[in-house]
Amino acid sequence: MASFSDCYGCSLCLLSCPMWLQRRDVRFSPQGYAKAMQHGATGADMDQALSACIQCGACDLLCPEQIDLSGMIAAALQQAEAPAAVADAAEPDWFAMSRTPALRQRLRADDLYIIDAVCFHAGHTLRAPHYDQLRRQTGCSMNLDLNRMAVATGIGSRAESLQAFDVNRQLEWLLLGRRFQRVIVENPADQRMLAQMTGKPVLSVSALINLPESGANRSETEHA
Ligand code: SF4
Ligand code: SF4
Repeated sequence: MASFSDCYGCSLCLLSCPMWLQRRDVRFSPQGYAKAMQHGATGADMDQALSACIQCGACDLLCPEQIDLSGMIAAALQQAEAPAAVADAAEPDWFAMSRTPALRQRLRADDLYIIDAVCFHAGHTLRAPHYDQLRRQTGCSMNLDLNRMAVATGIGSRAESLQAFDVNRQLEWLLLGRRFQRVIVENPADQRMLAQMTGKPVLSVSALINLPESGANRSETEHA
């Protein structure tokens, strides 16, 4: 893959970046990181700007130069002695769960299905067609944007823990204009805040799959 030295400043990556959308300051964007590094900045020099990145991986997909922006950010965080978040090895495979027949049968047209953005972007080529099909078959809506990228919640990110990223604002943006009666989340970390913000039942994918057949279509008792 190309490196930060190949960035020519087209700004396309800004369109997908939740951090930039909140800050509207190019220093808080993948382009800003790449340009700073081209001029000799180290991860330590960019510590403040790096603190707001939720490491969602969306920027990787839009860069026409195919720069490994996630890799660049992880390396810069390492230089700043702030290691990038690593996936928990014990974390369930949400993509595998999303492919089970039980999930397909139980998803409803009035569900909002929240894809885990980090997993989705890491395997986008394989995952995007699968989720498109799931959406068509069930009629549910998903946290996908016009570029078929998953809108990240930022919940549980390093940026949230540093209070450098406002997850409430992000959720407001994610939910804007979406109509649904129930929320299904891949990552259980998203469950509590989405229940608070929507006032709707919020179920994890694993809970939905394991719901007894008789309860699968009831929403009243499905609060997390
Ligand atoms: S990983 Fe996400 S928040 Fe970080 S720079 Fe890329 S798009 Fe922006
Ligand atoms: S999309 Fe790629 S080339 Fe364009 S500004 Fe962002 S990092 Fe640079």
